[in-house]
Amino acid sequence: MRIVLLGGPGSGKGTQAKKLTDKYRIPQISTGDIFRAAVKEGTPMGLKAKEYMDKGELVPDEVVVGVVKERLAKPDLDKGFMLDGFPRTLGQAQALDKIMVEISKMIDHAILVDVPDEELMKRLTGRRTCRNSACGKMYHVMFNRPKKEGICDACGSELYQRDDDSEATIRERLNVYAEQTAPLIDYYDKKGLLRRVEGVGPIEGIFSSIVRVLG
Ligand code: AMP
Repeated sequence: MRIVLLGGPGSGKGTQAKKLTDKYRIPQISTGDIFRAAVKEGTPMGLKAKEYMDKGELVPDEVVVGVVKERLAKPDLDKGFMLDGFPRTLGQAQALDKIMVEISKMIDHAILVDVPDEELMKRLTGRRTCRNSACGKMYHVMFNRPKKEGICDACGSELYQRDDDSEATIRERLNVYAEQTAPLIDYYDKKGLLRRVEGVGPIEGIFSSIVRVLG
């Protein structure tokens, strides 16, 4: 099963992607995670990506497409994959179509985790993430607090607020989403691949809805 996950920043698609990975045993390919790992390692690609990420802007298409193409060439994708946070522009969606033709595969579903903007803003400003990238568990200062403040329940590492989760950056990310990424909803709808799921409510309920639309 080859899936594209669509949804605004803070829509919970990363959380759902992890759950889907467990259920269907397909790798989650998150371009955001790939960039954050590259920033941490201080690679030239990471340094370039950070300039855009800190401002809430999109990393240029040619950089992102190169990263995804390299990832999709790895041999662990027999059962499929889940793209989380890619594509984010029409150019990226077209590039993905081209890559799929080259590897003789097809995208089966584009799932939209649908959440209103004001809800996204509330969620993102309170978001805290585990600093241990192998864990990466996410919390919220209002909706999902850790047992001990500032400490991850799962692994005991420190929690932090992502550089791009400040209010000004979040506003910019929401604008970027509306302008550049939302057109993909129509793009996948026209291809008959769009599966729209209401992204407000308990995580488990949203997950069940996704599993249902996947058939
Ligand atoms: P995410 O974790 O998916 O919210 O991504 C964090 C940041 O990484 C975004 O705000 C962008 O700056 C960058 N990024 C991640 N995926 C992409 C993409 N497909 N296209 C452009 N920039 C991206």
